[in-house]
Amino acid sequence: MTALPGASPLLRDVFGFDAFRPGQEEIVDAVTAGENVLAIMPTGGGKSLCFQLPALIREGVTVVISPLIALMRDQVRGLQEAGVAAGALTSGNTQEETDAVWEALEAGRLKLLYMAPERLASGAAMGMLRRIGVSMIAVDEAHCVSQWGHDFRPDYLRIGELRQALDVPLAAFTATADAETRDEIVQKLFDGQPPRSFLRGFDRPNIHLAFATKDGPRRQILSFAAARKGQSGIVYCGTRAKTEALASALRDDGHVACHYHGGMQAEDRRNVETRFAREDGLIVVATVAFGMGIDKPDIRWVAHADLPKSIESYYQEIGRAGRDGAPAETMTLFGPDDIRLRRSQIDEGLAPPERRAADHARLNSLLGLAEALHCRRKNLLGYFGEVTEPCGHCDLCDSPAEVFDGTTAVRKALSAILRTEEWFGAGHLIDILTGTETDKIRARRHDQLSVYGCGNEYDKRQWQAVFRQMMGHDLVRPNPERHGALQMTAAALPVLKGEAQISLRKDSIKTASRRPAVKA
Ligand code: ADP
Ligand code: ZN
Repeated sequence: MTALPGASPLLRDVFGFDAFRPGQEEIVDAVTAGENVLAIMPTGGGKSLCFQLPALIREGVTVVISPLIALMRDQVRGLQEAGVAAGALTSGNTQEETDAVWEALEAGRLKLLYMAPERLASGAAMGMLRRIGVSMIAVDEAHCVSQWGHDFRPDYLRIGELRQALDVPLAAFTATADAETRDEIVQKLFDGQPPRSFLRGFDRPNIHLAFATKDGPRRQILSFAAARKGQSGIVYCGTRAKTEALASALRDDGHVACHYHGGMQAEDRRNVETRFAREDGLIVVATVAFGMGIDKPDIRWVAHADLPKSIESYYQEIGRAGRDGAPAETMTLFGPDDIRLRRSQIDEGLAPPERRAADHARLNSLLGLAEALHCRRKNLLGYFGEVTEPCGHCDLCDSPAEVFDGTTAVRKALSAILRTEEWFGAGHLIDILTGTETDKIRARRHDQLSVYGCGNEYDKRQWQAVFRQMMGHDLVRPNPERHGALQMTAAALPVLKGEAQISLRKDSIKTASRRPAVKA
């Protein structure tokens, strides 16, 4: 659990993220606490948050040294859009920009000051930094200090002097992890005093990963739990009502189970937490409210009765299993309703358009993981920037997804989108493909389209699976400015033109038609 109750609300409110990525929370805690830190994270892993968030919590201004002007400007713009007082001093600035930054600094208004390392060469900058109350230094791409690397920047050598002159903590970040580079960073930036170092792979190899499409979800959860009777586990649900219903169904099946959600009395919640910590074999059926502060080492399984919010949430939630390192199992259920619900939550939220678009893109990544064709773990870790081999310990390594050439189906779906000029969502497009008569079809004269009824080989549920997988392949994305109407991405064009093929998973298409009438 975070030592800083302030961190999570800031994560959400300022950055728009619903969970930390692997490794971020520990680094954020250490940096906020004023420790000297060296953090090695893969590119794309989310390093910038690890100094931006602490910078907001700490008094005074954080100086960020970064070698890439374009990247600095991007970050400053992003922060400003999120309402954070950030500025940059780089050679690309206009005089007005530079004046504005100096003024904000002198007035004590700036939280983050980005600087190109060349700036440190001028005595004026050093003097100014000494005067304004710098609270810490963050160094991005810290390997640039290494004389033996490809990216050596002589001016990076001045950062060590700056740290000594200001006598403030320093946090260094890089994706380059080899031991010599690390040693050099410690020598040059930290004067040889080893900082607190974070170098951790994200993989949790003892956790078995699996996803399944919903096909009688209550039955699926009950049978998953039945195979693990007597083991401690968590079932995450999307709604409070469902936690109560599922807990009761589990009890009927002879399990010891209770529900947990944010609508319960604090005392009742504490009671469940204590029981879970002490008892063996208790199942807690919960919303995401359950988890912060749970550090039971021997949780043997985690199941998701509904699709999690994001890959970050998924990783965090399954990560509660198997902390003791012994084998643990997970299963995540998802269906078209989950996808629709998540989409509408994003679209109906109050976030500005860019953030909503980013949220949709993140949801697409989660769907890509759910519909992955090859090793699930490779896909998951790849999302966090870590490159790995197939793991041999996930559902897809156990039994590879059966795929078929879905190019024809995908092309039909893309044509329907094209013919209706990207103005409609999957539901209406499926009505067109299956030649369904609805008021909307008639009103828009979509029964006149050449694609009307061209997809009779599949029923609605099968088409939903096709669209879901198209989203997973990022061929289409909902357009937030058109109420989630599907829009083609650049990746769709080669498929439309017949230059690229798309493999679809057989199982989800098959499941769709064979689905028994089980009520969940
Ligand atoms: P790098 O480690 O390469 O510097 P960035 O800091 O640029 O990575 O982050 C990479 C991407 O990950 C960015 O798009 C950022 O918005 C996103 N990101 C970072 N932290 C989170 C998080 N906790 N949840 C969701 N997305 C995140
Ligand atoms: Zn695998």
